[in-house]
Amino acid sequence: MRPFLYERATTPAAAVKAASAPRARPAAEQSVRYIAGGTTLIDLMKLDVMRPELVIDINALDRTALGRIEADGNGLRLGALVRMSDAADHPDIRGGYPVLAQSLELAASQQIRNMASLAGNVLQRTRCSYFRDVSYSACNKRDPGSGCAALTGFNRAHAVLGGSDQCIASYPGDFAQALMVLDAEVEIIGRKGPRTIPFATLHRRPADTPHLETILDPGDMISAFVVPSAPWARRSLYLKIRDRDSYEFALASAAVALDLADGSVRDARIALGGVATVPWRAKEAETALRGKPINVQTMEAAAEAGFASAKGHEHNAFKIALGKRTLVRALSQAATLEI
Ligand code: SF4
Repeated sequence: MRPFLYERATTPAAAVKAASAPRARPAAEQSVRYIAGGTTLIDLMKLDVMRPELVIDINALDRTALGRIEADGNGLRLGALVRMSDAADHPDIRGGYPVLAQSLELAASQQIRNMASLAGNVLQRTRCSYFRDVSYSACNKRDPGSGCAALTGFNRAHAVLGGSDQCIASYPGDFAQALMVLDAEVEIIGRKGPRTIPFATLHRRPADTPHLETILDPGDMISAFVVPSAPWARRSLYLKIRDRDSYEFALASAAVALDLADGSVRDARIALGGVATVPWRAKEAETALRGKPINVQTMEAAAEAGFASAKGHEHNAFKIALGKRTLVRALSQAATLEI
């Protein structure tokens, strides 16, 4: 691991100020990083993939609203520093927003869930092995303009939705898809003060700048996730398909939330994981379901619509069929939930 400077922030404003100070290296290199649980950052620093010159420890901020879960009739407010395991176990979340609890408890291991923060979780970086192994020189995400080893290499774990000819790395998280189907918003503190954006706009598709993964500016810090109360929140679930049943990333996953009336779909929210370069809102699938009776034919039609733009590569084309079956199974399980 390379040498780096370490600072401990005691207020959000102090953290943002320290992170926003001019640095020698260009902003695109992200030479300043916040650290909370450190479960991604430290790994990638040891691998020499991430090389921050300054690491700002924000764990002391968990004594502020950043460390709290607040629930009332209007919805949820989840502080950015809440640990994954605390959110997964929270009774209001388990009862009122099951897709959130399930996405968290199906991720990583119990030890990692005890350490990792919610904001760190949504910002985790891809598991593409060419990205994580610096002995491969071609990785546009790690070294812009260097090429993409995965396009012609072993790409079984890579994305079939949202890729470009610069990068097909899959987004590895689960919680982000759950936030997306509940129309969550993200509160951000930055150099110019606080702002709130729809969660669905946080991540960027790779296009021709795969090294830019989010719309966050240098110094920006996520402070909370806000989840509104909605008629589909209780009839929601997260289904994750993987090579082994524990401590593994998704090959395909689906977060679904349904509002049903008399056996028909009044509204539907669907997000896909494991198959896309970003947390993937499947609007075409939602449109295919809305106003229709919920049955095998309409669920399969929704899955076809959701994957209509999918593009397979040499080793990952199986994800298209797997993703469709995952979505159909998630929808049928959600439709039969007793709420
Ligand atoms: Fe790098 Fe993306 Fe290609 Fe993986 S898929 S090697 S992360 S550019």
